[in-house]
Amino acid sequence: ACRVCGKRLWHRRTKCLRCSNKYLMVRRILAYAQPHRRLMIASGVLLLFSIAFELIPTYLMKLLIDNFTEGGSRSALLWLIVAMAAVHLIGTGVSMARSFIGLRFGGRLMGDIRKHAFDAILKLSMSYFDRRQVSQFISRVQNDTEELKQFLTEGFIQFLSQVLLAVGVLGLLFYLNAPLTWMILIPVPFLALGFLWIWPRIRILWYSQWMSVMNVNNVIGESLQGIRVIKAFAQERREKQRFAQANDTLVKRMISMGNLWMSVSPLFSLVIAAFGLLVWYAGGKSVLGGGMTLGSLTAYASYLVMFFGPLQAFGASLNMINRVMGSAERIFELMDAKSDTPDRPDAVQLESAQGEIRFDGVRYGYDKSRAVLKDLNLTIRPGEMIGLVGPSGAGKSTLINLVCRFYDPDAGSITLDGIDLRDIAQESLRARIGVVLQETFLFDGTIAQNIAYGRKDASPESIIEAARTAGAHGFICGLPEGYETQVGERGHRLSGGEKQRIAIARAVLLDPEILILDEATASVDTETERAIQEALARLVKGRTTIAIAHRLSTLRGADRLIVLEQGRIAETGTHDELYRSKGTYWRLVESQKQMTESEVG
Ligand code: ATP
Repeated sequence: ACRVCGKRLWHRRTKCLRCSNKYLMVRRILAYAQPHRRLMIASGVLLLFSIAFELIPTYLMKLLIDNFTEGGSRSALLWLIVAMAAVHLIGTGVSMARSFIGLRFGGRLMGDIRKHAFDAILKLSMSYFDRRQVSQFISRVQNDTEELKQFLTEGFIQFLSQVLLAVGVLGLLFYLNAPLTWMILIPVPFLALGFLWIWPRIRILWYSQWMSVMNVNNVIGESLQGIRVIKAFAQERREKQRFAQANDTLVKRMISMGNLWMSVSPLFSLVIAAFGLLVWYAGGKSVLGGGMTLGSLTAYASYLVMFFGPLQAFGASLNMINRVMGSAERIFELMDAKSDTPDRPDAVQLESAQGEIRFDGVRYGYDKSRAVLKDLNLTIRPGEMIGLVGPSGAGKSTLINLVCRFYDPDAGSITLDGIDLRDIAQESLRARIGVVLQETFLFDGTIAQNIAYGRKDASPESIIEAARTAGAHGFICGLPEGYETQVGERGHRLSGGEKQRIAIARAVLLDPEILILDEATASVDTETERAIQEALARLVKGRTTIAIAHRLSTLRGADRLIVLEQGRIAETGTHDELYRSKGTYWRLVESQKQMTESEVG
């Protein structure tokens, strides 16, 4: 719930839009324009000119009509036409210049905001992503930045120009006929009251509409991410229904909002039209009585439309401001989010490591009320290979997440060579750790680039050498373009075992002092497993290693096995010691044996 008003919040936000300080938000948005203030000022100056050029033609029209009706001359007619042509010409030039400047200003601004948003995402800790959907971030970086740009380049300028135009027109109305102008100002307070009445209603409807948009986006994002599962379980119909539901709600809310606006907006137009008629009547009487020229009355009527026009457009501007506030709030929330694992200002830069890892009374839970690791004490010697085993959900992956400092312990400490991980600059800590996970992510790029992911400056020779050590050179050479083969989302698809060897090559090239292997040989056939095992054996040599494997036979070579059970260390020892003691490890090995036998049988 919102910390201020207590209403329901969407997706773990801290404050709702209703309760955020709009003034501060606008100031923050405007701060983005600060580095481009020259462009903004140029845009502002051109805006003033364009407003002037919008007002002048109507006045020239008055002079033109008066020239006909009040006994003018041919030369005056010619000059007026020339002046009008000049005004139109210059006006077009000014508006073109404004568009070019606006385009440049908007483009740069959007680039800046998007970059900030993306930087902010990368700074966040893993726990932030655990609780949110990926589609949300894409929408924030893309749509919300676009919305902010629109506001700064168009919305804000339009809003200003409407206000300036209304002020300019009012001045001219008073100049043309002051008593009539006092009269037409009568409906303004009523219109203002009307806006004040409708404004909170629109805001509420708009807010719920926005929630529905988010909901629809989430359903789309989730379905796309889980498309394999949906198809495999033939759940298309269910997903369609889920989408239809979210979509229907969105449509209903859009219609309700449209209904409200459409039922009020014509009323405003009606009031304005009525006052227009009043002007024609009162002004017409004045023309007939000789108090006003026909040109003045025509100009007056035109200016009146110009005066009420911005008032009506004001509604659209308010609507836009509402949308922008939502976007700004989402972006600023992202930018303000604090990492749960921040670097201390005096954090140590780790140039190298011996590799001694020590857990001292470590307790950790993703959810603070449920500890996953409980009072864990463990010392891993430099160069030692630890096999981490235990039933599913025992906390094995959590333990390695803590070593990588994706999360900080709730109690106790983890040290590397005697230095608390919280005192080490994260980038330098992770440069000391190589990770080979069950699922290897390949980025769009060549195989060589993917192997050199952690070491951009690696030479082609060292990349090939790493691939050889990882047992990947053979299959890479068999690919159509060898090391230059494109892989990743838009490239060649590699098999699970091939991907894993790329990951091992990555780790070899990184040459880290600490190695983490999480189910590195899962989901491959026995022959590939053997190849990977050999590659791993070469990789592990001389490095502190923590390896997780469900297939216990793969951990035979470990110096020590740690058996985790419900977040605690149940047993430690070598394979032989643990097997002989007939505890948890023995049970795990036996049940795997039985499974293998029944599979073979
Ligand atoms: P497995 O062998 O099945 O991979 P594991 O021993 O590696 O299991 P962990 O992944 O460490 O177990 O999970 C330990 C517990 O923490 C589980 O109960 C799991 O539900 C929970 N858990 C894991 N990751 C998260 C997360 N990101 N957010 C919340 N809870 C989590």
